[in-house]
Amino acid sequence: MKTRNSFRPAHKSEMTLPADFSMPDAPLGMGTPFDDDKLHEECGVFGIFGHQDAAAHTALGLHALQHRGQESAGIVSYDGNRFNTHRNLGLVGDIFGSEKVMESLKGSSAIGHNRYSTTGETLVRNVQPLFAEFAFGGLAIAHNGNLTNALTLRRELVNRGSIFHSTTDSEVLIHMISTSWANTVTNRIVDALQGVEGAYSLVGLAENVMYGVRDPLGVRPLVMGRIDGATILTSETCALDIIGAEYVRDIEPGELVIIDESGVQSLRPFAAAKSRLCIFEYIYFARPDSVVEGLSVYEARKKIGAQLAIESPVEADIVVPVPDSGNPAAMGYAEQSGIPFELGIIRNHYVGRTFIEPTDSIRHLGVKLKHNANRSYIEGKRVILVDDSIVRGTTSTKIVEMVRAAGAAEVHMRIASPPTMHSCHYGVDTPDSDKLVAANLDLEGLRKHIGVESLAYISMDGLYKAMGQENGRDPATPHYCDACFSGEYPIALSDLDSGAGTAQLSLLAEQNG
Ligand code: SF4
Repeated sequence: MKTRNSFRPAHKSEMTLPADFSMPDAPLGMGTPFDDDKLHEECGVFGIFGHQDAAAHTALGLHALQHRGQESAGIVSYDGNRFNTHRNLGLVGDIFGSEKVMESLKGSSAIGHNRYSTTGETLVRNVQPLFAEFAFGGLAIAHNGNLTNALTLRRELVNRGSIFHSTTDSEVLIHMISTSWANTVTNRIVDALQGVEGAYSLVGLAENVMYGVRDPLGVRPLVMGRIDGATILTSETCALDIIGAEYVRDIEPGELVIIDESGVQSLRPFAAAKSRLCIFEYIYFARPDSVVEGLSVYEARKKIGAQLAIESPVEADIVVPVPDSGNPAAMGYAEQSGIPFELGIIRNHYVGRTFIEPTDSIRHLGVKLKHNANRSYIEGKRVILVDDSIVRGTTSTKIVEMVRAAGAAEVHMRIASPPTMHSCHYGVDTPDSDKLVAANLDLEGLRKHIGVESLAYISMDGLYKAMGQENGRDPATPHYCDACFSGEYPIALSDLDSGAGTAQLSLLAEQNG
């Protein structure tokens, strides 16, 4: 287990924030200034084998998983003769909204992918599923996660003659499979997976067979479902619900499932290891109506909020969530404390990619495009604001300003996760630690920075208790990956340690759209 200590100055509260610690200058929409203060979900995957509406179900599944990635989406289907694909930048509804596109995705098996890039750039050639023609035939793969030795492997492969098309870590797997000497497709996949390190949930589609695999620690989720006799693999159960499929089970950490006409076969190609699912799935990433490893995400968030109320009570008139991610934790806090829950901040759900990029003169409006205070419920009240996390602190500061401007008598902030002080290297887009406000300011410094009367985070033990670990976090064998809080990285960070870097940049300038 690796421990990373973020940059921690001796007198943190006296520290000034980096000069660029302000609203980033990103265009609206994907990676907007208003979304940039959250950790970005990784990716969503979906696969279905043995259904006449395979591509349509896949598009619907990707739609349910849109929260896991909004930069691009793609589907590859297999019709018994050929693979068919459609991939593009944008949202699922825009990419797969046309009848012509859907009709082109023929076949009874398909896999799909939503992407938020954590490695590689936002380019059409990086859009997944990736597809390659091998000696054994075609294979498409869709990957959620991040390979932590991908750059090292990529350089070795390039030196041996591999020609890469994309800048994603997922393509490394394609080349590992291609250059494997194993005798069957399954054995080549196993051989490739045994050479990579990192966090991944993968679905793969070859001729007449679908694969699904979770990394040995199961950092990223993957579940199996069934509809009309067809088998589904997907990141979250909400993608089963949308098509009326039944949940069968979670794919276990380190499990490889092979699905073909004869049924489902399960292999264990890795050494046994204690699982470490990403705890942030429960805090923020997964949809609240999903069930991850048997635990309802909504229920987990409410319990986290209740635990927060036990640990950090404060006298106030109303509990207000920072919507939408703070909603269940705020409900839990309100129920536990007996303080009324109110929707004191209203979110505009229609701030999207089509909005014009703001000019400098209106950029200061900032977060109001997405959130507005519900003045009649805020005015004169002592408000407890509940949010899931603080990343850069930019949104929190704006929200507090907005609530005060609406006449709040006091503003107290409660955060439903421990301080986010370390970068994620397992497929979640996190700023470097010098941009993580909790890594640069102590609690009092952060309270002043955000401008609230009081600020409290849930404790690490409290978080684990809320998740059903009654003794809190076991430091010897924690139940979850919590590296962005603890700095304890459960999977080797080989590229980072070797100085290979964390992202492959392209030599080719490419015009998108
Ligand atoms: S570092 Fe944080 S976000 Fe990344 S996998 Fe671990 S818990 Fe999840």
